Amino acid sequence: MSEPLVIIGNGMAAVRLVDELAKVALGRYAIAVIGDEPRLAYNRVLLSSVLAGEAASHDIELRPANWWRDRGVTLKYGCVATEIDVGRREIKIENEESIAFSRLVLATGSTPLRLKVPGADLAGVHTFRDSRDVDLLLALAAQKKRVVVVGGGLLGLEAAYGLAKAGAPATLVHLMDRLMERQLDAPAADLLKSLVERKGIKVLLDANTAHIHGQTRVEGVELADGRRIEADAVIFAAGILPNIALARDAGIPVNRGVVVDDVMQTGVRDIFALGECAEHRGVCYGLVEPAYEQARVLARHLAGGAASYGGSVVATNLKVSGVRVFSAGDFMGVEGSETILLNDTRGGTYRKLVIFDGRLVGAVLIGDVGDALWYLELIRGRQPIAEIRADMMFGRRLAISSQAA
Ligand SMILES: Cc1cc2nc3c(=O)[nH]c(=O)nc-3n(C[C@H](O)[C@H](O)[C@H](O)COP(=O)(O)OP(=O)(O)OC[C@H]3O[C@@H](n4cnc5c(N)ncnc54)[C@H](O)[C@@H]3O)c2cc1C
Repeated sequence: MSEPLVIIGNGMAAVRLVDELAKVALGRYAIAVIGDEPRLAYNRVLLSSVLAGEAASHDIELRPANWWRDRGVTLKYGCVATEIDVGRREIKIENEESIAFSRLVLATGSTPLRLKVPGADLAGVHTFRDSRDVDLLLALAAQKKRVVVVGGGLLGLEAAYGLAKAGAPATLVHLMDRLMERQLDAPAADLLKSLVERKGIKVLLDANTAHIHGQTRVEGVELADGRRIEADAVIFAAGILPNIALARDAGIPVNRGVVVDDVMQTGVRDIFALGECAEHRGVCYGLVEPAYEQARVLARHLAGGAASYGGSVVATNLKVSGVRVFSAGDFMGVEGSETILLNDTRGGTYRKLVIFDGRLVGAVLIGDVGDALWYLELIRGRQPIAEIRADMMFGRRLAISSQAA
C-alpha cells in the first residue's frame, strides 16, 4: 500500500516536488497537498506580469486540475493546516477532519513583512504576495489611487512598475541609498533608478518610513527626515518572513526558517521542509531556483536514493520594472580582485565583470543580459579565463571565436 505523504502549502516548491516525485517514486506515496489559497497552484513570479497587464491571472496556473488527478494527488485548496500533531502523525485542518501522514513536507512559503510604524493597520495598507493582493492592487490602479510602495528591492520595483503602468501615480520609497542593494553595485543601481524613473515612477532613496497618516484610511506617508508624501494607499514590499509558526508550535526546530539538513529533513524524523520556509546551513532563500533544487533532492531522498543539497549559488536574472537585470557571485569584488567595466548610461547598458585569481567571480549586467547564463556558468564552474579575458566583456560569441582562432 502507498504511504501517506502530506505536503502543507500549494505553492511553487510543492508543485515541483510532486513533479519530481512522479518521476522517481511513482505509486510509492499517496500524496495529499493542503493549500490555503483558494485556487490551483500558480507561478507566483508571474504575479508581477499580471499586475503589469502582461498576463491574465488564469494564464499563470502551474498545472491544470487533471495533472494533479493523473498523479493521484488529493488536492485540498482553500484549506488551512492549523496544527501538526507530531506524536499522532496527524495534521489538523481548519473546519475539516484531521489527515494522517507517515511523511510530512512543509512548503509553507513566506509572509510579507509589515513595518511596525504608526498607521500600518489603516485601511489602504496592502502587501504584494498572492493573487488576492494583485486583485486589490489592480483595483487601486483602476481608480488612479496615489500609491506609496515601501521597499526598493525586486518586489517593490515590480509593484511600483505594475501600478504605474496601470495608471496609478506611484512613489517608491527605499531605506537604503540605492535600489536593490543586495544585487547591484552603486553605478548599476543608479542606472536602474534612472530607467525606472523614465517609466513614471518617483523614487526616493534614504527614505525611512516613519508614520502612515490617516483617520481610518491612508492619507499620506511621513518619512523620518520629515518629508511627506500624499497617498491613498501604501504597499509594503520591504522583505519577507518564512512561515514557521506551524513547525514551531509542533516543537520542530526553527530559527529564521524551519531548520533542515542536506536531505531537507527537519529536526524531526520523516518531517521535511523546502522552499522559502526552510533554512539550510543558515540560509533562507527567497527565490524559486533554490526551491526547485531542493525539490529534486528531497524527491530522490523520498524515493530511497542518495541525494544531497549543498546550497545554491544564487543569481538574479530578472526583468525588473521592464528593465533586464542580472547579477551573480561576488559582484562587489574583494581585495585583490580586478574589474572590467562598461557603463553606457545614455544607452541604458551596464556591464561589470569581477575577476579574482584568474577566474570570473562576479558579474552585474543591466540592459543587455544576453550573455548572463554564460557568465553564470563561468562563475559556477570556476573556469580559468586567461584565454578569453580580452574578449569576454563583449560576450560569448566573440570570446569563443577568438579563442578558436
Ligand atoms: C510578486 C513576486 C514576484 C517574484 N519574482 C521572483 C522572481 O522573479 N524570481 C524568483 O526567483 N523569485 C521570485 N519571487 C519569489 C518566488 O515566488 C518564491 O521564492 C517562491 O514562490 C517560493 O515557493 P514556495 O513554494 O516556497 O512558497 P509559495 O509559493 O509562497 O507557496 C507557499 C504556499 O503555502 C501556503 N500556506 C502557508 N501556510 C499554510 C497553511 N498553514 N496551510 C495551508 N497552506 C499554507 C501559502 O498560502 C502559499 O500558497 C517572487 C515573489 C513574488 C510575490
